[in-house]
Amino acid sequence: MKKYVLHSESVINNIQTYRDYFGDYLHAKISNYDNIINELKECPIFTRDIYQKPIYDIIVSEKNDEDTLIINGYSIDYLIFKDKFLLKNNPYLILDSAIFLSKILNIKNIDIILRSYYLEEKNILIKALVETEDIYYIDREISINVYDENSYYDNYKEKIIIPYLENKKYIFDLETITQFGYFAHIGKNNFEKYGKGEFKGSVLLSISGDINIPNLYEFELSTSFSDIIRIAGNIPKDCDIKCVFTNGFLNPPIDMESLSNISLDYNDFENLNLKLGNGGICFIRENRCVIRVVLKIVLFAKSIACGKCMPCGFGFNLCEYYLNKIILGKSDYSDFNDLKNILNMIIKCASCFYIRALVNCILQTIEKFNYEFIYAVEKKITLYSFIK
Ligand code: SF4
Repeated sequence: MKKYVLHSESVINNIQTYRDYFGDYLHAKISNYDNIINELKECPIFTRDIYQKPIYDIIVSEKNDEDTLIINGYSIDYLIFKDKFLLKNNPYLILDSAIFLSKILNIKNIDIILRSYYLEEKNILIKALVETEDIYYIDREISINVYDENSYYDNYKEKIIIPYLENKKYIFDLETITQFGYFAHIGKNNFEKYGKGEFKGSVLLSISGDINIPNLYEFELSTSFSDIIRIAGNIPKDCDIKCVFTNGFLNPPIDMESLSNISLDYNDFENLNLKLGNGGICFIRENRCVIRVVLKIVLFAKSIACGKCMPCGFGFNLCEYYLNKIILGKSDYSDFNDLKNILNMIIKCASCFYIRALVNCILQTIEKFNYEFIYAVEKKITLYSFIK
Protein backbone atom coordinates (compact mmCIF):
# COMPACT_ATOMS: atom_id res chain seq x y z
CA MET A 1 0.00 0.00 0.00
CA LYS A 2 1.56 3.28 -1.06
CA LYS A 3 -1.03 5.83 -0.08
CA TYR A 4 -3.69 6.03 2.58
CA VAL A 5 -6.90 7.96 2.78
CA LEU A 6 -9.23 6.42 5.35
CA HIS A 7 -7.23 3.35 6.24
CA SER A 8 -4.63 3.75 8.93
CA GLU A 9 -0.95 4.00 8.22
CA SER A 10 -0.13 1.42 10.84
CA VAL A 11 -1.79 -1.87 11.58
CA ILE A 12 -4.37 -1.75 14.36
CA ASN A 13 -3.51 -4.92 16.19
CA ASN A 14 -5.15 -4.58 19.58
CA ILE A 15 -8.42 -3.39 20.96
CA GLN A 16 -6.91 -0.52 22.93
CA THR A 17 -5.39 1.03 19.80
CA TYR A 18 -8.77 0.63 18.10
CA ARG A 19 -10.46 2.43 20.98
CA ASP A 20 -7.88 5.21 20.84
CA TYR A 21 -8.60 5.73 17.15
CA PHE A 22 -12.34 5.12 17.00
CA GLY A 23 -13.76 5.45 20.52
CA ASP A 24 -16.71 3.28 21.39
CA TYR A 25 -17.96 0.48 19.23
CA LEU A 26 -20.66 1.58 16.80
CA HIS A 27 -23.47 -0.32 18.44
CA ALA A 28 -22.68 1.47 21.71
CA LYS A 29 -22.19 4.85 20.06
CA ILE A 30 -25.17 5.09 17.70
CA SER A 31 -28.66 4.23 18.84
CA ASN A 32 -30.69 6.06 16.21
CA TYR A 33 -30.51 3.87 13.12
CA ASP A 34 -32.86 6.08 11.09
CA ASN A 35 -30.32 8.91 11.05
CA ILE A 36 -27.56 6.79 9.64
CA ILE A 37 -29.87 5.18 7.08
CA ASN A 38 -30.98 8.62 5.89
CA GLU A 39 -27.38 9.78 5.70
CA LEU A 40 -26.51 6.73 3.61
CA LYS A 41 -29.24 7.72 1.20
CA GLU A 42 -27.72 11.16 0.78
CA CYS A 43 -24.14 9.90 0.60
CA PRO A 44 -24.32 6.43 -0.95
CA ILE A 45 -21.65 3.79 -0.43
CA PHE A 46 -21.63 1.14 -3.14
CA THR A 47 -20.75 -2.50 -2.64
CA ARG A 48 -17.48 -3.41 -4.30
CA ASP A 49 -18.87 -6.59 -5.80
CA ILE A 50 -20.34 -7.37 -9.20
CA TYR A 51 -23.66 -5.70 -8.34
CA GLN A 52 -22.25 -2.37 -7.17
CA LYS A 53 -25.39 -1.68 -5.13
CA PRO A 54 -25.76 1.16 -2.63
CA ILE A 55 -25.76 -0.19 0.95
CA TYR A 56 -28.80 2.00 1.51
CA ASP A 57 -30.84 0.00 -1.05
CA ILE A 58 -29.91 -3.28 0.62
CA ILE A 59 -30.86 -2.00 4.06
CA VAL A 60 -34.23 -0.58 3.06
CA SER A 61 -35.25 -3.28 0.57
CA GLU A 62 -37.97 -5.64 1.66
CA LYS A 63 -36.64 -8.10 4.19
CA ASN A 64 -36.54 -11.70 3.10
CA ASP A 65 -36.20 -14.71 5.33
CA GLU A 66 -32.39 -14.68 5.39
CA ASP A 67 -31.22 -14.67 8.95
CA THR A 68 -27.47 -14.40 8.32
CA LEU A 69 -25.22 -11.53 7.39
CA ILE A 70 -22.27 -12.79 5.34
CA ILE A 71 -18.99 -10.91 5.40
CA ASN A 72 -17.19 -12.06 2.31
CA GLY A 73 -13.44 -12.33 2.72
CA TYR A 74 -13.47 -15.14 0.17
CA SER A 75 -12.69 -13.00 -2.82
CA ILE A 76 -12.83 -14.89 -6.10
CA ASP A 77 -11.84 -11.89 -8.23
CA TYR A 78 -8.86 -12.14 -10.55
CA LEU A 79 -5.78 -10.12 -9.56
CA ILE A 80 -7.55 -8.43 -6.65
CA PHE A 81 -5.44 -8.54 -3.54
CA LYS A 82 -7.17 -6.44 -0.90
CA ASP A 83 -8.77 -8.93 1.51
CA LYS A 84 -5.55 -9.87 3.28
CA PHE A 85 -4.66 -6.20 3.70
CA LEU A 86 -8.07 -5.36 5.18
CA LEU A 87 -8.02 -8.32 7.57
CA LYS A 88 -4.55 -7.45 8.81
CA ASN A 89 -4.88 -3.68 8.85
CA ASN A 90 -7.97 -3.40 11.00
CA PRO A 91 -9.88 -6.57 11.91
CA TYR A 92 -11.67 -4.66 14.69
CA LEU A 93 -13.32 -2.35 12.19
CA ILE A 94 -14.61 -5.33 10.20
CA LEU A 95 -16.16 -6.79 13.35
CA ASP A 96 -17.45 -3.47 14.64
CA SER A 97 -19.14 -2.62 11.33
CA ALA A 98 -20.56 -6.11 10.86
CA ILE A 99 -22.10 -6.11 14.34
CA PHE A 100 -23.56 -2.66 13.80
CA LEU A 101 -24.99 -3.57 10.40
CA SER A 102 -26.50 -6.76 11.80
CA LYS A 103 -28.20 -4.64 14.48
CA ILE A 104 -29.64 -2.32 11.83
CA LEU A 105 -30.86 -5.29 9.80
CA ASN A 106 -32.01 -7.13 12.91
CA ILE A 107 -29.99 -10.18 11.93
CA LYS A 108 -28.75 -12.48 14.66
CA ASN A 109 -26.04 -14.41 12.90
CA ILE A 110 -22.86 -13.16 11.22
CA ASP A 111 -20.77 -15.54 9.10
CA ILE A 112 -17.33 -14.33 8.04
CA ILE A 113 -15.96 -16.47 5.22
CA LEU A 114 -12.27 -16.64 4.37
CA ARG A 115 -10.01 -18.64 2.11
CA SER A 116 -8.57 -21.73 3.83
CA TYR A 117 -5.04 -20.49 3.11
CA TYR A 118 -5.65 -17.20 4.95
CA LEU A 119 -4.27 -18.87 8.08
CA GLU A 120 -2.49 -15.83 9.49
CA GLU A 121 -5.44 -13.56 8.77
CA LYS A 122 -7.88 -16.02 10.30
CA ASN A 123 -5.85 -16.04 13.53
CA ILE A 124 -5.73 -12.23 13.53
CA LEU A 125 -9.49 -12.05 13.10
CA ILE A 126 -10.18 -14.61 15.82
CA LYS A 127 -7.86 -12.78 18.22
CA ALA A 128 -9.75 -9.56 17.48
CA LEU A 129 -13.05 -11.34 17.99
CA VAL A 130 -11.98 -12.65 21.40
CA GLU A 131 -10.77 -9.19 22.48
CA THR A 132 -13.96 -7.62 21.23
CA GLU A 133 -16.08 -10.02 23.24
CA ASP A 134 -13.92 -9.51 26.32
CA ILE A 135 -14.08 -5.76 26.36
CA TYR A 136 -17.48 -4.91 24.95
CA TYR A 137 -20.60 -6.67 25.86
CA ILE A 138 -22.09 -7.97 22.66
CA ASP A 139 -25.70 -8.91 22.74
CA ARG A 140 -25.65 -12.65 23.27
CA GLU A 141 -28.32 -13.02 20.63
CA ILE A 142 -25.76 -12.23 17.92
CA SER A 143 -23.38 -15.02 17.05
CA ILE A 144 -20.29 -14.45 14.95
CA ASN A 145 -18.64 -17.34 13.11
CA VAL A 146 -15.44 -17.43 11.11
CA TYR A 147 -15.35 -20.07 8.37
CA ASP A 148 -13.12 -21.25 5.60
CA GLU A 149 -14.54 -23.24 2.70
CA ASN A 150 -14.08 -26.56 4.51
CA SER A 151 -15.63 -25.61 7.83
CA TYR A 152 -18.40 -23.78 5.99
CA TYR A 153 -19.22 -26.94 4.08
CA ASP A 154 -19.07 -29.03 7.27
CA ASN A 155 -21.59 -26.73 8.90
CA TYR A 156 -23.99 -25.90 6.08
CA LYS A 157 -23.32 -28.66 3.53
CA GLU A 158 -22.94 -25.87 0.98
CA LYS A 159 -19.93 -25.09 -1.16
CA ILE A 160 -18.86 -21.47 -1.44
CA ILE A 161 -19.37 -21.12 -5.18
CA ILE A 162 -20.44 -18.19 -7.33
CA PRO A 163 -24.15 -19.04 -7.64
CA TYR A 164 -24.38 -19.53 -3.88
CA LEU A 165 -22.79 -16.15 -3.19
CA GLU A 166 -24.82 -14.38 -5.88
CA ASN A 167 -28.08 -15.57 -4.36
CA LYS A 168 -27.41 -14.20 -0.91
CA LYS A 169 -29.05 -10.91 -0.10
CA TYR A 170 -27.07 -9.79 2.92
CA ILE A 171 -23.53 -10.29 1.74
CA PHE A 172 -20.84 -7.62 1.98
CA ASP A 173 -17.25 -7.72 0.82
CA LEU A 174 -14.59 -6.54 3.26
CA GLU A 175 -13.97 -3.20 1.59
CA THR A 176 -17.66 -2.29 1.61
CA ILE A 177 -18.03 -3.17 5.27
CA THR A 178 -14.96 -1.13 6.25
CA GLN A 179 -16.12 1.89 4.19
CA PHE A 180 -19.44 1.65 6.01
CA GLY A 181 -17.54 1.48 9.30
CA TYR A 182 -15.57 4.66 8.58
CA PHE A 183 -18.75 6.40 7.44
CA ALA A 184 -20.61 5.47 10.63
CA HIS A 185 -17.69 6.39 12.91
CA ILE A 186 -16.70 9.73 11.43
CA GLY A 187 -20.21 10.77 10.32
CA LYS A 188 -21.52 11.97 6.98
CA ASN A 189 -20.07 15.48 7.24
CA ASN A 190 -16.54 14.26 7.76
CA PHE A 191 -16.89 11.41 5.28
CA GLU A 192 -17.94 13.89 2.61
CA LYS A 193 -14.56 15.56 2.87
CA TYR A 194 -13.13 12.57 0.99
CA GLY A 195 -13.82 13.09 -2.69
CA LYS A 196 -14.63 16.24 -4.65
CA GLY A 197 -17.28 14.83 -6.96
CA GLU A 198 -20.77 13.49 -6.39
CA PHE A 199 -19.52 10.34 -4.66
CA LYS A 200 -17.56 10.31 -1.44
CA GLY A 201 -15.17 8.05 0.38
CA SER A 202 -12.22 6.07 -0.83
CA VAL A 203 -11.50 3.09 -3.06
CA LEU A 204 -8.80 0.47 -2.81
CA LEU A 205 -7.33 -0.18 -6.22
CA SER A 206 -5.37 -3.35 -6.98
CA ILE A 207 -3.05 -2.04 -9.68
CA SER A 208 -1.19 -4.69 -11.64
CA GLY A 209 0.37 -5.50 -15.00
CA ASP A 210 2.62 -3.21 -17.00
CA ILE A 211 2.98 -0.35 -14.55
CA ASN A 212 6.11 0.57 -12.65
CA ILE A 213 4.83 0.04 -9.10
CA PRO A 214 2.05 -2.54 -9.07
CA ASN A 215 0.50 -2.55 -5.62
CA LEU A 216 -2.60 -1.92 -3.56
CA TYR A 217 -3.44 1.79 -3.34
CA GLU A 218 -6.15 3.75 -1.64
CA PHE A 219 -7.50 6.86 -3.37
CA GLU A 220 -10.24 9.34 -2.69
CA LEU A 221 -13.17 9.01 -5.05
CA SER A 222 -12.82 11.61 -7.83
CA THR A 223 -9.03 11.29 -8.01
CA SER A 224 -8.06 11.58 -11.68
CA PHE A 225 -6.57 8.51 -13.32
CA SER A 226 -3.69 10.57 -14.63
CA ASP A 227 -2.75 11.16 -10.96
CA ILE A 228 -3.36 7.52 -10.07
CA ILE A 229 -1.08 6.34 -12.88
CA ARG A 230 1.60 8.83 -11.82
CA ILE A 231 1.42 7.69 -8.18
CA ALA A 232 1.68 4.06 -9.34
CA GLY A 233 5.02 4.96 -10.91
CA ASN A 234 3.80 5.58 -14.46
CA ILE A 235 3.98 3.25 -17.40
CA PRO A 236 7.49 1.86 -18.05
CA LYS A 237 9.37 4.25 -20.36
CA ASP A 238 9.97 1.74 -23.12
CA CYS A 239 6.39 0.63 -23.59
CA ASP A 240 3.02 1.74 -24.86
CA ILE A 241 -0.16 0.44 -23.34
CA LYS A 242 -2.41 -1.52 -25.64
CA CYS A 243 -5.36 -1.69 -23.22
CA VAL A 244 -6.40 -1.59 -19.60
CA PHE A 245 -8.69 -4.01 -17.81
CA THR A 246 -10.80 -2.53 -15.04
CA ASN A 247 -13.12 -4.04 -12.42
CA GLY A 248 -10.92 -7.13 -12.23
CA PHE A 249 -11.59 -8.24 -15.85
CA LEU A 250 -15.35 -7.84 -15.47
CA ASN A 251 -15.41 -4.84 -17.83
CA PRO A 252 -14.42 -4.82 -21.50
CA PRO A 253 -10.85 -3.52 -22.02
CA ILE A 254 -10.42 0.19 -22.61
CA ASP A 255 -7.62 2.18 -24.15
CA MET A 256 -5.13 4.18 -22.15
CA GLU A 257 -6.39 7.53 -23.40
CA SER A 258 -9.96 6.84 -22.22
CA LEU A 259 -8.69 5.85 -18.79
CA SER A 260 -6.37 8.83 -18.50
CA ASN A 261 -9.29 11.18 -19.17
CA ILE A 262 -11.56 9.95 -16.40
CA SER A 263 -11.56 10.01 -12.62
CA LEU A 264 -12.24 7.48 -9.97
CA ASP A 265 -15.93 8.26 -10.14
CA TYR A 266 -19.00 6.08 -10.64
CA ASN A 267 -20.45 8.46 -13.24
CA ASP A 268 -17.23 8.55 -15.26
CA PHE A 269 -17.22 4.76 -15.38
CA GLU A 270 -20.93 4.64 -16.18
CA ASN A 271 -20.39 7.03 -19.11
CA LEU A 272 -18.03 4.46 -20.61
CA ASN A 273 -20.48 1.63 -19.87
CA LEU A 274 -18.15 0.31 -17.19
CA LYS A 275 -18.38 -0.41 -13.50
CA LEU A 276 -15.82 0.60 -10.94
CA GLY A 277 -16.68 -2.59 -9.04
CA ASN A 278 -13.88 -4.39 -7.25
CA GLY A 279 -11.19 -1.85 -8.15
CA GLY A 280 -8.93 -4.21 -10.09
CA ILE A 281 -6.90 -2.33 -12.72
CA CYS A 282 -4.51 -4.22 -15.01
CA PHE A 283 -2.33 -2.51 -17.63
CA ILE A 284 -1.36 -4.50 -20.73
CA ARG A 285 1.59 -3.28 -22.79
CA GLU A 286 1.44 -3.09 -26.57
CA ASN A 287 3.81 -5.96 -27.26
CA ARG A 288 2.14 -8.38 -24.88
CA CYS A 289 0.33 -11.16 -26.75
CA VAL A 290 -3.39 -10.63 -26.21
CA ILE A 291 -4.16 -14.27 -27.06
CA ARG A 292 -2.13 -15.32 -24.04
CA VAL A 293 -3.89 -12.68 -21.94
CA VAL A 294 -7.25 -14.11 -23.04
CA LEU A 295 -6.00 -17.60 -22.22
CA LYS A 296 -5.18 -16.45 -18.68
CA ILE A 297 -8.67 -15.04 -18.20
CA VAL A 298 -10.15 -18.27 -19.56
CA LEU A 299 -8.03 -20.35 -17.17
CA PHE A 300 -9.19 -18.16 -14.30
CA ALA A 301 -12.83 -18.57 -15.40
CA LYS A 302 -12.31 -22.33 -15.63
CA SER A 303 -10.92 -22.38 -12.08
CA ILE A 304 -14.02 -20.72 -10.61
CA ALA A 305 -16.73 -22.38 -12.73
CA CYS A 306 -18.62 -24.70 -10.42
CA GLY A 307 -19.88 -27.02 -13.16
CA LYS A 308 -23.56 -26.72 -12.32
CA CYS A 309 -24.47 -25.66 -15.82
CA MET A 310 -22.96 -27.38 -18.84
CA PRO A 311 -21.91 -24.47 -21.07
CA CYS A 312 -19.90 -22.79 -18.34
CA GLY A 313 -18.73 -26.03 -16.74
CA PHE A 314 -17.31 -27.45 -19.99
CA GLY A 315 -17.09 -24.41 -22.25
CA PHE A 316 -13.91 -23.00 -20.74
CA ASN A 317 -12.08 -26.29 -21.35
CA LEU A 318 -12.94 -25.97 -25.02
CA CYS A 319 -11.86 -22.32 -25.06
CA GLU A 320 -8.54 -23.34 -23.55
CA TYR A 321 -8.16 -26.02 -26.23
CA TYR A 322 -8.80 -23.62 -29.13
CA LEU A 323 -6.64 -20.87 -27.67
CA ASN A 324 -3.74 -23.27 -27.23
CA LYS A 325 -4.21 -24.43 -30.83
CA ILE A 326 -4.08 -20.83 -32.02
CA ILE A 327 -0.98 -20.06 -29.94
CA LEU A 328 0.78 -23.19 -31.18
CA GLY A 329 0.09 -22.29 -34.82
CA LYS A 330 -2.10 -25.34 -35.40
CA SER A 331 -5.44 -23.64 -35.93
CA ASP A 332 -7.59 -22.46 -38.81
CA TYR A 333 -10.52 -20.07 -39.08
CA SER A 334 -13.01 -22.71 -37.99
CA ASP A 335 -11.20 -23.01 -34.63
CA PHE A 336 -11.35 -19.25 -34.19
CA ASN A 337 -15.07 -19.23 -35.01
CA ASP A 338 -15.70 -22.17 -32.68
CA LEU A 339 -13.92 -20.28 -29.90
CA LYS A 340 -16.23 -17.30 -30.35
CA ASN A 341 -19.32 -19.53 -30.67
CA ILE A 342 -18.54 -21.27 -27.39
CA LEU A 343 -18.06 -17.96 -25.60
CA ASN A 344 -21.38 -16.70 -26.99
CA MET A 345 -23.04 -19.89 -25.85
CA ILE A 346 -21.63 -19.47 -22.31
CA ILE A 347 -22.93 -15.90 -22.15
CA LYS A 348 -26.38 -17.07 -23.25
CA CYS A 349 -26.63 -20.01 -20.89
CA ALA A 350 -24.54 -19.20 -17.80
CA SER A 351 -26.74 -18.58 -14.82
CA CYS A 352 -24.19 -16.43 -12.97
CA PHE A 353 -23.94 -12.72 -13.55
CA TYR A 354 -20.23 -12.87 -12.67
CA ILE A 355 -19.45 -15.44 -15.37
CA ARG A 356 -21.43 -13.57 -17.99
CA ALA A 357 -19.49 -10.37 -17.22
CA LEU A 358 -16.17 -12.22 -17.41
CA VAL A 359 -17.07 -13.84 -20.74
CA ASN A 360 -18.27 -10.53 -22.11
CA CYS A 361 -14.83 -9.12 -21.25
CA ILE A 362 -13.18 -12.02 -23.12
CA LEU A 363 -15.39 -11.60 -26.19
CA GLN A 364 -14.87 -7.85 -26.32
CA THR A 365 -11.11 -8.36 -25.98
CA ILE A 366 -11.16 -10.76 -28.91
CA GLU A 367 -13.21 -8.31 -30.95
CA LYS A 368 -10.97 -5.35 -30.11
CA PHE A 369 -7.80 -7.26 -30.97
CA ASN A 370 -9.25 -9.40 -33.74
CA TYR A 371 -6.18 -8.66 -35.88
CA GLU A 372 -3.89 -10.53 -33.46
CA PHE A 373 -6.06 -13.64 -33.72
CA ILE A 374 -6.30 -13.39 -37.52
CA TYR A 375 -2.51 -12.96 -37.71
CA ALA A 376 -1.95 -16.06 -35.56
CA VAL A 377 -4.43 -18.15 -37.55
CA GLU A 378 -2.93 -17.12 -40.88
CA LYS A 379 0.80 -16.94 -40.09
CA LYS A 380 0.80 -19.81 -37.55
CA ILE A 381 2.69 -17.69 -35.05
CA THR A 382 1.41 -15.05 -32.63
CA LEU A 383 2.11 -11.43 -33.52
CA TYR A 384 3.84 -10.80 -30.22
CA SER A 385 5.69 -14.05 -29.75
CA PHE A 386 8.92 -14.71 -27.93
CA ILE A 387 9.63 -17.40 -30.52
CA LYS A 388 11.59 -15.96 -33.42
S1 SF4 B 1 -22.55 -20.16 -14.67
FE1 SF4 B 1 -23.21 -22.22 -14.00
S2 SF4 B 1 -21.33 -23.51 -13.97
FE2 SF4 B 1 -20.72 -21.35 -14.12
S3 SF4 B 1 -20.28 -20.77 -12.03
FE3 SF4 B 1 -22.42 -20.19 -12.45
S4 SF4 B 1 -23.71 -21.94 -11.85
FE4 SF4 B 1 -21.56 -22.64 -11.93
